[in-house]
Amino acid sequence: MKFALTSKGDSVSDEILAKMKNYLTEFNLVIDEEEPDLVISIGGDGTLLEAFHTYIHRLDKTAFIGVHTGHLGFYADWMPKELEKLIIEVARTPFQVVEYPLLEITIRPKGDEPEDRFLALNECSVKTAEGSVVLDVEIKGEHFETFRGDGLCISTPSGSTAYNKALGGAIIHPSLEAIQIAEMASINNRVFRTIGSPLILPKHHTCMLKPKHEKSFLITLDHITRRYADVKSIQCRVAKEKVRFARFRPFPFWKRVHDSFVADDE
Ligand code: NAP
Ligand code: MN
Repeated sequence: MKFALTSKGDSVSDEILAKMKNYLTEFNLVIDEEEPDLVISIGGDGTLLEAFHTYIHRLDKTAFIGVHTGHLGFYADWMPKELEKLIIEVARTPFQVVEYPLLEITIRPKGDEPEDRFLALNECSVKTAEGSVVLDVEIKGEHFETFRGDGLCISTPSGSTAYNKALGGAIIHPSLEAIQIAEMASINNRVFRTIGSPLILPKHHTCMLKPKHEKSFLITLDHITRRYADVKSIQCRVAKEKVRFARFRPFPFWKRVHDSFVADDE
């Protein structure tokens, strides 16, 4: 089995990386940063988001696992004190995987330039630095509403506990193939009207965002922010690709939610 390690870059994470590298090579596992079967990310959820985007071109071949060196993570759900157990489990390949849905974003420009296609593990958000965002929102090809406000956040089920949650979105179990649209401070009065509730769309229900103004947009994809001028449309749907996480022990999603947001008891 070939593996790669990534670190948040702080001394604790780097130390764990060195330790795991030593042990795993002693177990005759091979380091391959180009074509790993397993990527072990050490740091936090942000570190795993970076690892995901580094290996995004081989999602069908690479599985991920996260060790957290800060507070409990959603993707980084192994604690440093469990390191030995994890090393033994990794060495005892093959491993089980669980697959989580991803979000596909296609950004089409007004001109002749080619479209950009991205995948997100957490979410895509559409904002602007120039006043309000004004967008026509279409669902399955039908006009749904004209949104005015700070922006929209379109998240995956596993990303529903991140930005989406701060916007009042629901937490969605990652076994559901869906995306969620959450509003950021929509303007609602007698003139402007939006639904106001987060919407959950199933697979194949495409959402199209069509700008109503000439402003440039700040489009975030997980931890990455890009600026776009002259956007014709932003298409969002459940991606056909999935992310694969190595599963060495049960740690149910709802327990992760409980331990992160309710209480880290027993
Ligand atoms: P960051 O500012 O360090 O991330 C914000 C927090 O979100 C961190 O505590 C991060 O955990 C946590 N997080 C990331 N993915 C999560 C998930 N799926 N479920 C629960 N918590 C999660 O920036 P970053 O580490 O590069 O992460 C980028 C993410 O930040 C974006 O994808 C977005 O979801 C989130 N974000 C949140 C808000 C908000 O809540 N108001 C605003 C902007 C962006 P770690 O500390 O373990 O990295
Ligand atoms: Mn972070």
